[in-house]
Amino acid sequence: MKLQPVRMIHSLVSRCISHLSRQCYDVIVVGGGHAGTEAAAAAARMGAETLLVTQKTHTIGALSCNPSLGGVGKGHLVREVDALDGLCGRAGDWAGINFSILNRRKGPAVWGPRAQLDRQRYREFIQGELQSISRLTVLEGSVEDLLVAEPNPDEPGSHRVTGISLENVLNPITASSVILTTGTFLSGSLFVGQTTSPGGRIGDAPSSAGLSHTLKERLGLRVGRLRTGTPPRIVKESVDFALAELHPPDRHPTPFSFMNTHTRCKAEEQVPCYLTYTTPGVERVVQESLHLNCHIQQDTKGPRYCPSIESRVLRFPGRSHQVWLEPEGVTSDLLYPQGLSMTMPPEMQLRLIREIPALHRAEIHSPGYGVQYDYVCPTQLSSALQVKTTQGLFLAGQINGTTGYEEAAAQGLWAGVNAACRALSTPPVSLSRTESYIGVLIDDLVSRGVTEPYRMFTSRAEFRTSLRPDNADLRLTPKGYELGCVSPSRYREAMRVQRSLQDAMAALQALTLSTASCREKLPDVRVSESKNAALTGMELLQYKELSFETLASVFPERLSSYLEFSQRLKIEAVYKPHCDINKKEIERIQKEEKMFLPQDIDYFSLPASLSQEAREILDRVRPTTLGAATRLEGITPAAVVSLYNYVQFAE
Ligand code: FAD
Repeated sequence: MKLQPVRMIHSLVSRCISHLSRQCYDVIVVGGGHAGTEAAAAAARMGAETLLVTQKTHTIGALSCNPSLGGVGKGHLVREVDALDGLCGRAGDWAGINFSILNRRKGPAVWGPRAQLDRQRYREFIQGELQSISRLTVLEGSVEDLLVAEPNPDEPGSHRVTGISLENVLNPITASSVILTTGTFLSGSLFVGQTTSPGGRIGDAPSSAGLSHTLKERLGLRVGRLRTGTPPRIVKESVDFALAELHPPDRHPTPFSFMNTHTRCKAEEQVPCYLTYTTPGVERVVQESLHLNCHIQQDTKGPRYCPSIESRVLRFPGRSHQVWLEPEGVTSDLLYPQGLSMTMPPEMQLRLIREIPALHRAEIHSPGYGVQYDYVCPTQLSSALQVKTTQGLFLAGQINGTTGYEEAAAQGLWAGVNAACRALSTPPVSLSRTESYIGVLIDDLVSRGVTEPYRMFTSRAEFRTSLRPDNADLRLTPKGYELGCVSPSRYREAMRVQRSLQDAMAALQALTLSTASCREKLPDVRVSESKNAALTGMELLQYKELSFETLASVFPERLSSYLEFSQRLKIEAVYKPHCDINKKEIERIQKEEKMFLPQDIDYFSLPASLSQEAREILDRVRPTTLGAATRLEGITPAAVVSLYNYVQFAE
C-alpha cells in the first residue's frame, strides 16, 4: 500500500508572531482553506521560504460546505493537482468514506472521480502534511492589511505589494510575493432568515475591512459581489432511511492519487448515501417564508449549479427535486442533505425538511445559512494569477469568483508555483488550456471573467478527449518536476508509467491480425465485414467488447507484462483517433499562446480594421497572448487577424 501515513494531530502548533524566526519571507499566503493550503505547500516545494497565515489553525483544510471531493470536471482538477504533487488527491484517498466514478455511462474522458469525505480526517491529513513540509511556517493570525510600495511614477497605475500587517501586531512581515486566498471572507456577511451578521463562515469573522479597502481603493481593483449557501445539518438517527433509496458506492474504490494503489477506507467499510425527493409541502414552506428570507431577496448571483432549495422551487415550480442524504464522517452523527441549501428562519427550515417523507421526524443540528462576499474580477489577473497592475500580489480561490474546493485548490497550487517563481527570480509560468483543466480554468477566469460563481465542467475543455483524468500524470508531472514543484519520487513513478505505456503501445502496434484470424482467435469481437486488411492490437482495442485482459490472454507472451495498465491502455486505444485529429488544432492554439501581446499596447491607436467594441474589450482585459485574445467574448475572427498582423509587425 502506497498511502502516505498521516501524523494524527488535532491542531497545528500555532506559532506566535514573537516566535517567528524571521520577519521576511519569499512568499506569504493569507488563508488556510483549499486554495491557501495548496498555494503554501507548492511555494515551499518550489524552494521558497513560505509563511501561511490564517485566522484559526485548527480550521486549516476545513470543508465549509459539502463533505465531498471531485465529481464531473472537478475530479479532473483533483487528479491534475495530484499530478503536480498537490495535497487534495491524497487527502481525499485518506479521508474518503464513499467512492464512486460519476458519468460512467459516458466515455472515460468525462468520468468524474468523486468521494464522500470524513471531515475530520480530511482536516487532519492536510494539517499533518503542512507540518511535514520544510521551508513552510504556519502562523495563526488575522491579516489586517497589505504593505504597498508607492507606485512607480514611470509606470502610472502600477503598485508593488511588499508584505502584510497583522491585527494587533506592530511589526509587519515582508515578502516578495503575497497570495490572498481569503475565500468567502472578504466583506463577508452571513444570512439566516431576517438576520444578517458580519462573517466569512459560521463561527468565523470576516476579513478585515482594511484589506477590502486596500484592494478597492488603493490598488483600484474592480470588485463584485457573489453569494452561496449551505444546508442545515441533520441528526442521523432522526432520519427514516426506510423511506429513502439506498445508493451504494462503487464496489472497488478508485483512488484520486496517482501515488496510491488503494484508499484508506476498504471497500466493505464504505458508508452509503441515500436519495430522497422534495414534495409539494416543501414548495409551500418556501413560498410562505419568502418575506422572512433576506438572502433570497437580494439580487446578488449565487451558484447556478448547486442552487438553494428556494431558488430551485422558484425557478421550477411544481417539480420534485432530488435530495441526497450524505454521511459527514465515519463516526459523525450528522447527515448533509445535498440539495437543501436554505436561508429561511430556522423554525421554517425545520418545517421544510419535515415535509420530506424520509425526514418527517428529522432534527436539525445546525441551521442552513447564506454568505455574501466580495470577489475580485479575475480579468485583472495574468495567467500566473498575479494582479496585472500590482507586482507581487497573487489571488487564488473563491476570491477570484469561483466556487468549490477543487477550483480553489487548482488555482492555489498554480498561484503558489508562480509566487515562488517571482520570489526566486525565475520567469512566470502558465498552463495552456490544451494541456490541462487547470489551464482551462485559469484561462476562462482571466480572459472571460465571471458573472456568477464559476465551477468546472468537462464541457469547458475543448480538448477533453486528450485531457482525461487517467492521464493527468503524463500531461503534468514532468512539467511540474522541471519547475520544481514535484518530488523526485513522484517523477520517477510517472516516468516508469510513461515508459511502460509506451512499450505496451508499441507492442500493441506491432501485433497485427488479419480479419480471419481475428474471427478465429477473438470470436466475441465483431470485426466489421468490410475490413479485409490486418488490424493492429491498438485498433482491435478500440472495439467496445474487447478488453486488454482478453487480448493479453490470447497473446500472453507479448502483452501479459502490461496487465497492470489494462484500463489505461484500453482508454488510450479508444481515444487515439480523436487525439490524432486534435493534434493540429492544439498546435495552432499553442502557437498563438506563444505570441505575447505587450501589456502597454494602446488599443485605440491600432489600425482602423479593429472595431471600437473590440478595442474597448481588449483595453479592459489586456490579454497577455494572442491565444487569450481569441477567446474573449466579442472578439471576432477579423479582430484576431488585425491583432495577429500587429504582433507579427511588432516582433
Ligand atoms: P476558504 O476555504 O473559504 O478559505 C479561506 C481561508 O482564509 C479561511 O481559512 C479563513 O480563515 C482565511 N482568512 C480569510 N481572511 C483572512 C485574513 N484576513 N487573515 C488570515 N486568514 C484569513 N462551494 C461549492 O462548491 N458548493 C457550495 O454549495 C458551497 N457552499 C458554500 C456555503 C458556505 C456557507 C460557504 C462558506 C462556502 C461554500 N462553498 C461552496 C464554497 C467552498 O467552501 C469554497 O469554494 C472553498 O472553500 C474555497 O476555498 P478557498 O481556499 O478559496 O477559501
